[in-house]
Amino acid sequence: MLIGCPTEIKPQEFRVGLRPDAAREAVAHGNKVLIQAGAGIGSGYTDDQYIAAGAEIVPDARTLFERAELIVKVKEPQAVERAMLRRGQLLFTYLHLAPDPDQTRELLDSGVTSIAYETVTDARGGLPLLAPMSEVAGRLAPQAGAWALQKANGGEGVLLGGVPGVRPANVIIIGGGVVGTAAARVAVGMGANVTVLDRSIPRLSYLDDIFMGRLTTQYATAAATAELLRAADMVIGAVLVPGAAAPKLISRAQLASMKPGAVLVDVAIDQGGCFETSHPTTHQDPIYEVDGIVHYCVANMPGAVPRSSTQALGNATLPFVLALADKGWRQAVHDDAHLRAGLSTHEGKLTSAPVGAALRSPS
Ligand code: NAD
Repeated sequence: MLIGCPTEIKPQEFRVGLRPDAAREAVAHGNKVLIQAGAGIGSGYTDDQYIAAGAEIVPDARTLFERAELIVKVKEPQAVERAMLRRGQLLFTYLHLAPDPDQTRELLDSGVTSIAYETVTDARGGLPLLAPMSEVAGRLAPQAGAWALQKANGGEGVLLGGVPGVRPANVIIIGGGVVGTAAARVAVGMGANVTVLDRSIPRLSYLDDIFMGRLTTQYATAAATAELLRAADMVIGAVLVPGAAAPKLISRAQLASMKPGAVLVDVAIDQGGCFETSHPTTHQDPIYEVDGIVHYCVANMPGAVPRSSTQALGNATLPFVLALADKGWRQAVHDDAHLRAGLSTHEGKLTSAPVGAALRSPS
């Protein structure tokens, strides 16, 4: 199959869908690989490394989209990219369609067959192509929040770990999945006083076991959240309802109960955000203030560390890229129900039930 990997064009996105070593494996399997010139530079991979791996460099996105049968990307296709997609072509990337009706409509109009990284499943009920980026975003969240807590950034001027004789900051993490666990690891490591809220008792038990008393777990109810908010210095939103828009767990009215200069880090912003006052921001302009509360809502957090992120994502996507390229998408999704779970659009039809439900709901 002819695989194409374009340069990412979302602002401040430096990851790349295929590393040179992945291109080498695809070529060794009898496929051809097209790489847009410069696509790997942001992650530290030169065109020469791709050429040495057996790939062909093409000068621009238009040539790549015209020729490639399978397009492997990182972020959802932007409007100019969506205009180049066509029926009979296969797109494998993050899509996050549930909160994005415009993108969904244009993918359907194009007729492209799309498979979303974030809804591919695994045998343990996890999301193996979301997990590596969740690990990265989770580890970054307390780091970003700690920066936002600094006075010069509008924060209350509190040090996450405190110092001897001074209490550490209170960090509330809502959602104790992959992001929440990674965030807890770093926040605990920085010396914060951490509480994790989740609706899954097995998840809370797991966290209780692995952190051995170094954090507090609490069942997530609206009342528990409201009470914890009053003393919180940082709240990290890390919930996920797979394939659906994030539930809104903190209202604007509740901001008034928080300490002025406290920080909300909404990692779930790529699913619409879990705070009422969240809107997506970029690495160039990551924070804003609402009613005295600093919000950090960068939708592509792993883009801040593209080298690590490209490596982690590529490890997870490569087996699926090879299956799709070697067998064709029909056979690949026939053979693997977990890959089939990622199938989102095909020839004008929406094939993801949770995305359909989210787009039909009035909110
Ligand atoms: P996950 O499925 O591993 O964990 C989600 C957790 O949320 C689960 O434990 C679930 O029980 C819990 N949950 C669901 N509804 C809840 C509720 N109402 N209250 C409390 N807990 C609830 O998912 P994840 O991989 O940790 O991803 C979390 C979020 O982070 C997702 O929205 C994902 O898209 C997002 N994400 C964002 C970025 C970014 O750059 N902004 C990067 C990676 C992941």
